[in-house]
Amino acid sequence: MPDVHAKLSASGAKRWMSCPPSAELESQFPDKSSEYAEEGTFAHSLAELILRYNNKELTKKTFTTRLNRLKKDHYYSPELQEYIEDYANLVWEQVNEAKVSCPDAQALFEQRLDFSEYVPKGFGTGDVVIIADDLVQVIDLKYGKGVGVSAEGNPQLRLYGLGAYLEHSMLYDIQRVKMTIIQPRLDNISTEELTVEELLTWAETEVKPKAELAMKGEGEFCTGDHCRFCKAFAVCRVQKDRQMELMKYEFAEGDLLEDSEIGDILSKLDPLVKWAEAIKAYAFDQALSHGVHYDGWKLVEGRSNRKYADEKQAATVLEEAGYQDIYKLKGFTDMEKLVGKKRFAELLSDLIIKPEGKPVLVSEKDKRPELNKAEQVKDEFSDDDYDCAREMREYKQAHDGSLGGPSY
Ligand code: SF4
Repeated sequence: MPDVHAKLSASGAKRWMSCPPSAELESQFPDKSSEYAEEGTFAHSLAELILRYNNKELTKKTFTTRLNRLKKDHYYSPELQEYIEDYANLVWEQVNEAKVSCPDAQALFEQRLDFSEYVPKGFGTGDVVIIADDLVQVIDLKYGKGVGVSAEGNPQLRLYGLGAYLEHSMLYDIQRVKMTIIQPRLDNISTEELTVEELLTWAETEVKPKAELAMKGEGEFCTGDHCRFCKAFAVCRVQKDRQMELMKYEFAEGDLLEDSEIGDILSKLDPLVKWAEAIKAYAFDQALSHGVHYDGWKLVEGRSNRKYADEKQAATVLEEAGYQDIYKLKGFTDMEKLVGKKRFAELLSDLIIKPEGKPVLVSEKDKRPELNKAEQVKDEFSDDDYDCAREMREYKQAHDGSLGGPSY
């Protein structure tokens, strides 16, 4: 499960450890869920159910009832279940391996892992914790299929490991901590193992001082890959300076760019494009949800595509008019070419509808009338219609909790 609402969360540790003041800056922005996050949460629920059943914590009847309930969920698919079963099998291999050396090995699921000894109010949730003799292992499921995430030096995983050690060190003589990420959709398994001494040294010398700075909103702003998942990314001034710096370029003489210059420019474009998209998404969201007005810009109804109100009836009308099989062709433009624009309209105008377009933020010069008030826009478009905005907002969460992003 994601580490929601913790200011210094484990999932955001890469960011706040690299840029301590980002924690304070981020607290000015609301938490936003996303379909990716919700799908990740669902995948974790299914994983927990399967693992608890494997661990004989549930009867077959309870397991089946709960599984059937999950199967009715919007996010359920047989494909998702297959991935999660693969993940559960991998977890079970680790549990069995632990039991070979230690028959009393324990497997715990969805454990709250408290590391507040080092990070104020710091806690996370360990998907799986296995304790066997002198070894504690945490396993983290990441359901996204974005980039592969390494466990090596990963602060999120290390904080989970730290929490697991602190939780169980009273009862067990733990000497080693193993941290594993499993990404079933990417076939990625990554592991780091540290001695307890190494982990505690890292926590004392790296985590603690940075957490103290982050809590106070102090320290140096620092840009880097960790910015991708920062809520302040679009409007962070240091980020703006970095982007401007990246674009500084000494051009050669001549009317046309050299190939070598184009190559150099291309290598700088990706971060710039991501930043530009983040600003567009931020401005759109502010205009749509909060009625913010930006000089020279306005919200209008976006374009939408025509569709048949009733496909079967449209096919019948065309067939009765002598156009046998023609309806199988897709696309209105092709149909108009074949039937003739005028005739097509005569036959089918009553059966063609044009849904309302989703709002878009455009230049004031655009001829379409402005959708004035945020309330009006909200009333006219249901939540489902916000997919476009959501897609823009969520590109940065797409996914996988890499580099300090959400852990789904
Ligand atoms: S965008 Fe980057 S530099 Fe700016 S606050 Fe966030 S993490 Fe720090």
